[in-house]
Amino acid sequence: MKAEILMIGTELLLGQINDTNATYMGQELANHGINLFQKTTVGDNRERIIGALNNALDRSDVVLCSGGLGPTEDDITRECVAEVAGVGMEYVEDIFFTIEAMFARFGIPITENNKKQAMVPEGGLIIENPNGTAPGLMVECDRGLIFCLPGPPRELKPMLNDKVLPYLRDRFSITSLIRYRVVHILGIGESRVDEIIGDLMTDSQNPTVGVLASPASVRIRIAAKAESEAEADKLIDPIEAEVRKRFPDLVMGTNDDTIESVVDELLRKRGWSISVVETSSGGCVAQRMTGISAPTYLGGRVYPMETLDLGDVEQAALELADRCMVDFSSDSGLSIVSDPAAGITYAAYNHPNGKEVWILGRSGRSVEIQDRVALLALEHLRRFLVSAI
Ligand code: AMP
Ligand code: MG
Repeated sequence: MKAEILMIGTELLLGQINDTNATYMGQELANHGINLFQKTTVGDNRERIIGALNNALDRSDVVLCSGGLGPTEDDITRECVAEVAGVGMEYVEDIFFTIEAMFARFGIPITENNKKQAMVPEGGLIIENPNGTAPGLMVECDRGLIFCLPGPPRELKPMLNDKVLPYLRDRFSITSLIRYRVVHILGIGESRVDEIIGDLMTDSQNPTVGVLASPASVRIRIAAKAESEAEADKLIDPIEAEVRKRFPDLVMGTNDDTIESVVDELLRKRGWSISVVETSSGGCVAQRMTGISAPTYLGGRVYPMETLDLGDVEQAALELADRCMVDFSSDSGLSIVSDPAAGITYAAYNHPNGKEVWILGRSGRSVEIQDRVALLALEHLRRFLVSAI
């Protein structure tokens, strides 16, 4: 089966909005084992939409359109699809009633042009739109299948995932799927990661291996195509093992793991709670731990660097870690303290088995740098917690 997508909207041609629907549709079609052969973009122009639909039907079995289903004059996708399918338009009262009820719920008076959204190509099937007024459409003709979905992403996405994709997989007996696993690497840069697993990226067919950098981590994405999730996992597992072998100690986690969720999990395994004192990380550790409601996190303090008379900064970091353990009655205490004069940041960790001190990189005032400092401290903590002690 060949599928293509047709993006409709003059605003797309003018670059006034980003075509995020095309990106999303491309990803989801691939995830669901459907080959996407072409993407076309046209403005809200009758001749050109009809031309694009005709060309698409000449090449492909299925055309998925996005946009042009609204109530205004320039929303003409419905009429163009009827023309190409060689059918007339019919008024479907049920659609109008649904729209009317929706307007009533929001207390907005319905306008005459909303009637337009109840006009559909004869024989077309309605795809319900739980998040908006314009219903989607499926029109079948001897040249192929045309789907029309509304432009607003929050309307298009659930309709695509809940209705269109399951229908297409069923109709064309598509059983293969694509499964991803992301391995998070912390502590080295993207180019270094590239060097270490370059061969895996170029040599691999199924699974394929790719690298994505984000501020928090370098992500290695392993994607496998298979007939079932279990089968895909079987293809992915040995590649993940190989990646882990090549980055000893540097793999923070996989998929939805975050540094804070991994640290929380490791603390839980040891039965330790934690409290934190922060200066140069500006509360970013606390924010991360509270953001996931980490059960091991008992509390934290954020001090402006200037208020602390530090003396020997390393010693001060250890004392602050001690003090927060007492204040919050936690089993362990983490402190992050900077020596602005020397430009060095220390993290100290006091725990039931002893004390650790780690030297972190530079410090700075921006939230990005503060979060980098928090991330580094948590990464040191993670590495310590996975080690044998
Ligand atoms: P339409 O269905 O053409 O009336 O589009 C309604 C709204 O959906 C537009 O004003 C955009 O905000 C949004 N939209 C339309 N097409 C796209 C697209 N390809 N990607 C992202 N948003 C879109
Ligand atoms: Mg439009």
